[in-house]
Amino acid sequence: MKKKHKIALGVTVSVVVALSITAGIFYFTQPTWFTRTIVNSQIESAPGYPEIDDGLHALLVGTGSPINDPSRAGPSVLVIAGEKHFVVDTGPGSTASLVTSGISPAEVDAVFLTHYHSDHIGDLGELMLQRWALGGSNESLPVYGPVNVTSIVDGFNDAYYLDSIYRNEHHGEENMPINGSGGVAMEFDIGNGTMASQVIYDQDNVEVTMFNVDHFPVYPAVGFKFEYKGRSLVISGDTVYSENLETQSTNVDLLIGEALNPELVAIMEESDDLGDENAGVVLHDIPDYHITPWEMATLAENANVEYLVYYHMIPPVPNSGVAKKVFLGNSSVIYSGDIDIGMDGFFISMPAHSEKIITTNLLERSAARPALVLIVNLVILGLMFGAGRLITKKRELKVKPIIMVYSILMGFLILTRIGSFVTTGFAASTLIYALVEATMLVWSVFYLNQNIKSRDKTNLKSKNKQSVVAA
Ligand SMILES: [Zn+2]
Ligand SMILES: [Zn+2]
Repeated sequence: MKKKHKIALGVTVSVVVALSITAGIFYFTQPTWFTRTIVNSQIESAPGYPEIDDGLHALLVGTGSPINDPSRAGPSVLVIAGEKHFVVDTGPGSTASLVTSGISPAEVDAVFLTHYHSDHIGDLGELMLQRWALGGSNESLPVYGPVNVTSIVDGFNDAYYLDSIYRNEHHGEENMPINGSGGVAMEFDIGNGTMASQVIYDQDNVEVTMFNVDHFPVYPAVGFKFEYKGRSLVISGDTVYSENLETQSTNVDLLIGEALNPELVAIMEESDDLGDENAGVVLHDIPDYHITPWEMATLAENANVEYLVYYHMIPPVPNSGVAKKVFLGNSSVIYSGDIDIGMDGFFISMPAHSEKIITTNLLERSAARPALVLIVNLVILGLMFGAGRLITKKRELKVKPIIMVYSILMGFLILTRIGSFVTTGFAASTLIYALVEATMLVWSVFYLNQNIKSRDKTNLKSKNKQSVVAA
C-alpha cells in the first residue's frame, strides 16, 4: 500500500472511531434526548388525517374475512360524508387499522352493523372504548343496526363496564365522563321482505338506507347505502346474489362488495395441511352464503355501478397482480366499469357534486415494504457493478476487487438505512450507522480513485520508457 493511501486509511479510521466514541458518549450521557428523538419521530411518522374536499369518501379499514390474513383486519369501512364519520362493521383488528390509517376513533360519530357474525362485530367494544377514552365524549356511540342490535350493544357494554369504571376513576369524570362510555343501540326492524329497505339516517345532507340482503341462514343481514351531495356508495355486507342489493346499487358511484371465490376455497378444502379439525367443514359450508367475484361483477354491471371495489375476500388474496387476476376470474370481462381489489388503508374520495373518484392508500407510507426496498437496492447494486466495469474497461485496469465489493456493500447498507428512514421513520441509531457507512464509502471511493490515478501514471511511465527504447 502506498504511503498516501496509508495516510488516507489512517485518517478515515480515526474519523470513524472518533465519531463512534462521540456518539457513544452522547448516547450514554444524553439518553433522554435519544429517547425523545425516537418517540417523537415515531409520532411524526404516523400518517395524518387525509386531506379531502367536501364529499363522500370511503376508507377500507379492514378487508379481511374470518379466515386469518395477517395483512388484513376484519371487515370494516369508514364512510366520511361531509363532517360525519361512520364506521360500517367493526371486524377484529379494525380499530387498530383505523388508527394506523391516521383516523382517530374519537372522530367516529356512529357505527352501522350489517349482521352479527363475529367477523363483523369483534372490535365493537374496542372502537367504543377508544372513541370515548381518546375523545372524552359525554354521549355514548350510536350503533345502528337491524333487529337484535340492542342485545349486541348491551353485551359489549357489559363486557367493557368494569374497564370504563376503572378509566373514569383513574382519569377523572371531566376527561372521561362515564355517560359517554360504551354504545347506544339504534335498532331498526325492516322486516324480512327480500326487497325491504328503509332510510334510517337523514341529517346534515347525509342519507343512509338500510336494506335486506340474503345471507341465509343468517337473519337479519343488511347492506347500507350512503348518499351525500350528489355522490353515493353501497356496502354489500355478506350476501349471495341479491336483487335488493342490485336495486339499491343502481347508478351508484361506488359499490364495496364482498366476494368468495369457490374454486380457490375448494382447492383449500382439498389441502391436507389445514390443521384444525373443523377447517374442512367450515370451508365446505361457506360458499353457499357468499357471492362470487363474477356474480358481484354481474350485479355491478346490471346496476350500472361506476366503480366496483372488493373487500371481505375469501380466501385471502395476496397483494400480487397474478393472485388478484386468479381471484377475479372473468369479473373484469363481465363488468365494464373500473374494478379493484381493496386492501386495508385503501381510500376512495368522491368530491361533492362531481364525477371524480380519487383513490390513494393511506397505509402505504407507514407500511414497511421490504420487497420494494430490496428491489431498489438490487437495481442500485447492478448499476454500481455496471459503473465499476465501465471504469475498469475504460482505464484498462484491474481495480482491486475487494475494495470494489466493499464500496458496493457500503452503498447497499446506506441505501438500506435510507429505506428504513422512509418506511419506518427517523431513528438516531440508524443515522449513526449511515454516517459511519458513508465515511467508509467516501474512503473506498477515494482509494479506488487514487489506485486508478497511480496506475495511469505507471502506465504512462512504461509507455514513455517504451517510446524511448523505440527511439
Ligand atoms: Zn363476514
Ligand atoms: Zn357473515
